[in-house]
Amino acid sequence: MLSVNHVTGGYPGHDVLHDLSFNVEKGELLGIVGPNGSGKTTIFKMVSGILKAQAGEILLKEKTIASYSAKQLAKVLAVLPQHAEQAFPYTVKETVSLGRYAHHTGWFQMWSEHDETVVQKTMEQTGIAQFQDHYVNELSGGERQRVFLAQALAQEPEILLLDEPTNHLDLSYQKELLDLLKKWTRETGLTVISIFHDLNLAGLYCDSLLLLENGKINLHNKPNEVLNEERIQTVYRTTIEKHPHPTVPKPQMLLLPEKQAEDLSGLIIDERYLDRSDERITLRSPFPLRTMSSGVVGSGTGWYTTFVNRHVDKSYNCSNHREEMLEYLKGHMIDPTETVGMMTAVRLEDVAYKLIEEEGVSVFIVVTAGVGNAVDASRSREHIYEPQPGTINTWVFVNGTLTDEAFIQSIMTATEAKVKVMQDQDVKDAVTGSSATGTSTDSILIAATQRGKHLPYAGTITTLGKLISQGVYTCTTEALQKYRARVSV
Ligand code: ADP
Repeated sequence: MLSVNHVTGGYPGHDVLHDLSFNVEKGELLGIVGPNGSGKTTIFKMVSGILKAQAGEILLKEKTIASYSAKQLAKVLAVLPQHAEQAFPYTVKETVSLGRYAHHTGWFQMWSEHDETVVQKTMEQTGIAQFQDHYVNELSGGERQRVFLAQALAQEPEILLLDEPTNHLDLSYQKELLDLLKKWTRETGLTVISIFHDLNLAGLYCDSLLLLENGKINLHNKPNEVLNEERIQTVYRTTIEKHPHPTVPKPQMLLLPEKQAEDLSGLIIDERYLDRSDERITLRSPFPLRTMSSGVVGSGTGWYTTFVNRHVDKSYNCSNHREEMLEYLKGHMIDPTETVGMMTAVRLEDVAYKLIEEEGVSVFIVVTAGVGNAVDASRSREHIYEPQPGTINTWVFVNGTLTDEAFIQSIMTATEAKVKVMQDQDVKDAVTGSSATGTSTDSILIAATQRGKHLPYAGTITTLGKLISQGVYTCTTEALQKYRARVSV
């Protein structure tokens, strides 16, 4: 569709672009990214025929851009500039209708039925049909942006150039616009080239990204290749971190703000922050902890400050336990958005906790354990599923900086230590009669301060792994013995 071959050029006496070459296929959504001054607008102006290349050529449908008249070009290519200004007080419909100009042979050509259909359709698609009789200068920035998009689409172009299309739009319109563009490229074969400042939006929606640096192509490839942590740090000269998007297989580049002056580095999470009652055990951290957990509330990964293990009766009705737990937290002035909440039918007086330190690393372990519904994992098929409040709830607070790998290994290590307690305490699965490995509703939480010592691993014989296995083993044994002494299982 579009071929840029060895293009050099820019402004009189100032060559901005140097030997740029890339192709855009029909139906592709190409994102142009790069820091300020890297040449994004300049290449945009060249492709839209505003600026001429000093050397090289730009082919649009196999013909050089220079060989198109303005009107011929407008039938193939439409542009949505960044600051779409409206000098005259036209109505929305009149403004959109201007997009049909390229398809008319002269100013006096009759307005056809097809023109009307196209204008109405693009107004519908961009969500502006309802205010087609309003004046454009009376609209909000976001609405105006959609009017100019409709005008560009009314040209029925094969290729659409957009300069920061989401600039004036709030979140929902950003998503709507980009979803729409994506849909058009898929369904109608429209080719889109767009400048993006937001690398995350570009990564989410574009088929490929062209990363510019000082007027040259740093890389033209799939978003996941271009949005490489080191590459982006170097080109944009800032510190960022690359993380996978939680629901789609696309990268997200996260800015890392400068650490604030407050010095909490010496603070460690231990029993000073633990609050116990018969109703709940609460740990309130003075700062958010990065957490991976299987709680009822706040499960998965996130940053949380409050951790609640709540006692509920054995007969607790679990049908809508999440909602009920949220209400419970709110009713006790605990903010659910900052909280990981678990439930247990075990009496909280049987809790066991301990701080273990070694080599400048410490972990604080809190365990409540009961084995009323103990299960042998190797024979769990013989059990019928019945949701019940958690029975062995394990909390592991790590005073250190963990990698994702260390989080996962921490869960494994803690689980292995728990299984060993089951064996050593000779806990049996009541259904199968064999040795139990845990209970049917256990929960786990690993929460790290992400301050202090860097701890990349937590396998059983690493420094951290040793602390976790020792702590979980000791606390689970103690909690279980207390439970058994009272319940006599
Ligand atoms: P970007 O869009 O990536 O921020 P531009 O393409 O606008 O970058 O600018 C690239 C370089 O061209 C910058 O060094 C800028 O100062 C220069 N430049 C931009 N517009 C003009 C102009 N009209 N005349 C001369 N130099 C310009």
